[in-house]
Amino acid sequence: MFTATGDDWAERAATLRLRTQMFVDGAWIEGSAEPLSPISPRDGRKLPVISAASAADVDRAVRSARRAFESGTWSRLAPRERGQLLIAFAQKIHDNAEELALTISLEMGKPLREALQTELRAVVNCFRWYGEAADKILDELPVTAPNSLALVTREPAGVVAAVVPWNFPLTMTAWKLAPALAVGNSVILKPAEHTTFSALRLAELAHEAGIPAGVLNVTPGAGDIAGRALGEHRDVDIVTFTGSPEVGRRFLGYSAASNGKRVWPELGGKTASLVLPDADLERAVRATADGCFYNQGQMCTASSRLLVPRAQRDRALEIAADVARETLPADPFSITTSMGAIVSEKQLASIAGFVQRAEATGAELAAGSTERFTAVDGGSYFAPVVVGVTPDHEVAQREIFGPVLSVIAYDDVEDALAIANGTEYGLAAALWSTDLNAVHSVSRRLRAGVVWVNCFEEGDMTIPFGGVKGSGFGRDKSLHAIDKFTDMKTTWIELA
Ligand code: NAD
Repeated sequence: MFTATGDDWAERAATLRLRTQMFVDGAWIEGSAEPLSPISPRDGRKLPVISAASAADVDRAVRSARRAFESGTWSRLAPRERGQLLIAFAQKIHDNAEELALTISLEMGKPLREALQTELRAVVNCFRWYGEAADKILDELPVTAPNSLALVTREPAGVVAAVVPWNFPLTMTAWKLAPALAVGNSVILKPAEHTTFSALRLAELAHEAGIPAGVLNVTPGAGDIAGRALGEHRDVDIVTFTGSPEVGRRFLGYSAASNGKRVWPELGGKTASLVLPDADLERAVRATADGCFYNQGQMCTASSRLLVPRAQRDRALEIAADVARETLPADPFSITTSMGAIVSEKQLASIAGFVQRAEATGAELAAGSTERFTAVDGGSYFAPVVVGVTPDHEVAQREIFGPVLSVIAYDDVEDALAIANGTEYGLAAALWSTDLNAVHSVSRRLRAGVVWVNCFEEGDMTIPFGGVKGSGFGRDKSLHAIDKFTDMKTTWIELA
């Protein structure tokens, strides 16, 4: 099912029925803000104009979500029934996976094969997992004196706003929606401007699966209008956000200036991949480069800093440069493509700017260039870059969100740890070594929410994901995500 076959994806893309309106209270409605005018980064083609939400439209969606919540059609449904509806929703996504994958590939340039095999598989798995979990969440009955009974229960928080980015548009959406819905909340989804079509189709499938009207609403639009209106709305109880640190901090400000709603920020990263002297250098460098170039480098966890012992630095640069030359962009609609298009011209110019400044300030360019790459005429493509730099270089400090790998030499383990921990971020890190003692002591000192040892990007729905420091403090996935969307309530009963 998740295996892409055939060579007619461009023709199929031309016949996609793309939804272009807001989805509120189970119906398609026009938004009143300036519409969105998306462009496919695959070939620069204009896509249909999308109706966008104003603050008043967002208010309408929030009222619809609140009504649905208070009505109890979802919030007070037996957890088992809610779970079964989420599993039915997962099945709908599964049955429409090719269409959704193609939509993602069209709107943000991800290789179709990756959209299907990786993204859609994860989305189906996520909704299924929380659907199965819905009736297996246990509350507490603490020990009290014989003449009293105390219940500690988890209640759905109410109205949740989910504001998500474009790089893994439906995976990020699923990570928010599935746990929020599983415990009975109503949700308003604000997709990223580049990836609205797939979000609208997802909401339609939820509706078809039987999730009641008003429980899942989608308000497309500009971040500083539709996103901000959700952040500032006094009847939104929780904002769950994935995106840039700058916007994440804005949401904390919106909350402070409105109703003090809970904000769960999952922000950017600058993953260090730390290769200890005993590690298999070739394997570690190849995995790191692959992890940096995957999804065109547009990943919060992209392993964009490779830290190697000084004596191995030149060899590491060579290996990484080989991987870069083997990973050139191609048509996202071809099923053999592993690197697709950069999401937009603006993002491409930003990536190129980082590489130009790196070159101008002494970085050693081992692979790639400052120029765009042509894979499909009119599209936005950029070939992977490998640079040898010092740890304080701009490219080694800032999140580029593009396929640019910084190779950095270290002198000893203390130096390596200082470099690895020496950015504002703390999302993920990788460690390469077979020395058990070193793995234990070094992994504990890496300031990151996730540490991968002798692997990269491994995970499971059972495992929480999220960062520390400037990468935010929200946690997606696993039963821990349930905590984000519930209120803890104590009921004390005095017995006769
Ligand atoms: P972004 O912060 O620009 O946008 C994210 C969302 O916020 C979008 O829906 C956008 O419309 C909205 N938004 C933008 N400005 C807003 C404002 N002023 N007020 C309210 N909402 C606003 O991020 P992006 O470019 O879509 O995604 C890239 C960023 O996301 C990177 O920093 C990346 O590291 C991060 N990311 C993090 C994770 C994670 O799990 N930690 C996963 C994927 C992406």
